[in-house]
Amino acid sequence: MELHGVGVGRGVAVGPVRRMPDPLPEPSDAEREQDAGAELAAVTYAIEQVAAELTAKGERAGGEAKDVLEAAAMMAKDPTLADDVRSRIEQGRTGERAVFEAFAAFQDMLTAMGGYMAERATDLGDVAQRIIAALRGVPAPGVPESDEPFILVARDLAPADTALLDLEKVLALVTRDGGPTSHTAILARSKSIPAIVGVTDALNLADGTVVVADAATGSVVSDPSQEVVAEVRQRIEQRKAAAAAPVTDGALADGTEVPLLANLGSPKEAAAALELGAEGVGLFRTEFLFLDAQTAPTVEQQTEQYTALLQHFPGKKVVVRALDAGADKPLSFLNDAEEENPALGLRGLRALRATEQILRDQLTALKNAQDATDADLWVMAPMVADAEETEYFVSLGKELGLTTVGVMAEVPSLAVLADQVLATADFVSIGTNDLTQYTLAADRMLGSVASYQDPWHPAVLRLVKMLGDAGAAAGKAVGICGEAAADPQLAVVLVGLGATTLSMTPAALADVRAELAATTLEQARAKADAALAATTASEARKAAHGA
Ligand code: PEP
Ligand code: MG
Repeated sequence: MELHGVGVGRGVAVGPVRRMPDPLPEPSDAEREQDAGAELAAVTYAIEQVAAELTAKGERAGGEAKDVLEAAAMMAKDPTLADDVRSRIEQGRTGERAVFEAFAAFQDMLTAMGGYMAERATDLGDVAQRIIAALRGVPAPGVPESDEPFILVARDLAPADTALLDLEKVLALVTRDGGPTSHTAILARSKSIPAIVGVTDALNLADGTVVVADAATGSVVSDPSQEVVAEVRQRIEQRKAAAAAPVTDGALADGTEVPLLANLGSPKEAAAALELGAEGVGLFRTEFLFLDAQTAPTVEQQTEQYTALLQHFPGKKVVVRALDAGADKPLSFLNDAEEENPALGLRGLRALRATEQILRDQLTALKNAQDATDADLWVMAPMVADAEETEYFVSLGKELGLTTVGVMAEVPSLAVLADQVLATADFVSIGTNDLTQYTLAADRMLGSVASYQDPWHPAVLRLVKMLGDAGAAAGKAVGICGEAAADPQLAVVLVGLGATTLSMTPAALADVRAELAATTLEQARAKADAALAATTASEARKAAHGA
């Protein structure tokens, strides 16, 4: 049996399946027998217990897991939810039922909001299950215990599960639900565990079946042949060797330099990226700092954050992106209108231009940080469509004192007009996630069209080539900062198409560094030509491999 989903990371694993236990059965909606006061006291106690447990687990786990678990503890104690639970108990529900209904109603609301908020709905469901388990006095559902390493198969993983995964035991994650930005995906990426999410038939995999979970192809193959297992083991060894290799600057086998940069969402991630050999930052996603903000951040708040980031990179390049609000990353202070198709809506630079003061404040804060540190700050705008928008952003950035100002190539029109754009922009950085979404007209958040979200598609590669050629003609940098740069084989092709730098999640740096070091520029160009001539994404992969 071969199942397919969306691969996260480039890793591969082979091992027996262990299934995550199913969620607790839905609490009955029979009338409560206890009086409301006693039910309420029991629920309050259970909530406190669960919140304390999550916080304590966070303390033990530390790092990113701590933030995730603290957020879950906060959800458990949310006063709006507590009020809703109380009123449901007062209307005659049992405590369990009231928790179930109140959390489900809140989950529905988050799901309807779509994007990032919808993915937080899973987290809320997990908190509800924990509270109900505490009320029943049964163990909370969670990752199964095992003496042997295993491949974990689940509907989806909640933060409390992913944060505490025993990395010695869990070889890979396979989930039925979840998209490329779900918690499972984020944590799998940061911990370098192969994961395949959105595998529709995942729950048909029986406990104990041996499978190969290959994130590079997004496939899960049951009962693999000995040859396949041997091949997988060889790939695992190669990845281990790459991870253990000395950290050097990115370069091809013939010495052509290809700086390897990090994608970051908070200054807190800088130290770990440097340790993994990041030569700078190729994409700092500023909107991640303000996802929960109700009002626009002030110049002072932003200056503090950007200065904290730049201080980690004296003498090094740091590319900061202006707020990219909308679609999968809504910011309430920038996008409050209901839109039928938010990915095609007032997002990125379009939203900033509609509220120019917010953009001016951000660029001013960046100028302050530029003046306060020795980092080489580059600033770029997301979702730019053409040379007119480029001109608008670049001239505003320069007016406010920024030195190097460019644009992201995410909308196909920008690639088509690359020569015009590069006449004005100091540089272009290609966001392959959105460029793929818009080129193939497939919502990147939607599991049903996930197979279209493949940056190997020759249509995407041809747009990258147009940008690479225009960059070479203008003598300007053309970086890649989408997930495509984290795929070692594709990274080589992108360099062959003219990319001058590659930026990625820091966990991917070692694999990409190793692949570049094994390829000359001539070989990279031959692979790029072969991929460009293919008719589908999978043919492009094969053609590049064979070239
Ligand atoms: C992209 O679209 O490729 C990109 C890097 O931006 P984001 O993933 O934040 O939209
Ligand atoms: Mg993007």
